[in-house]
Amino acid sequence: MKKKILRFCPVCKGPLPEDKNGNTVYCSDECYDYNKSVDASEKNKKKSLQKILLFLDNTANETYGLYGSKPFSAKVFLDRGFVWDTYSELITIENIQAKKLIRYAYVLFTNQTVKIWKL
Ligand SMILES: [Zn+2]
Repeated sequence: MKKKILRFCPVCKGPLPEDKNGNTVYCSDECYDYNKSVDASEKNKKKSLQKILLFLDNTANETYGLYGSKPFSAKVFLDRGFVWDTYSELITIENIQAKKLIRYAYVLFTNQTVKIWKL
């Protein structure tokens, strides 16, 4: 005798119809399509985040070439289209909480100067 296991659709949380075979994950084409579209937009989000990070990291690279690890005016970053809300993670360097990009991390001080670290 085959054991019946009640399974649930990860999208709508409803039970899967019993006539669905064992490999079926979603209860309906609608739930399948919905999941696919969410997946695609997550991937797009990740891709564009990666693009922004790369741009910011390149900006940091260019600026590091000019100022090294000396603090400089935040305007230098702003003039290059830098944005502050995108970074890969927060890390602590020299007891300062810095925003890590890819090869560089930086901190924006309250006096509107920026310091960069090469990682
Ligand atoms: Zn469903």
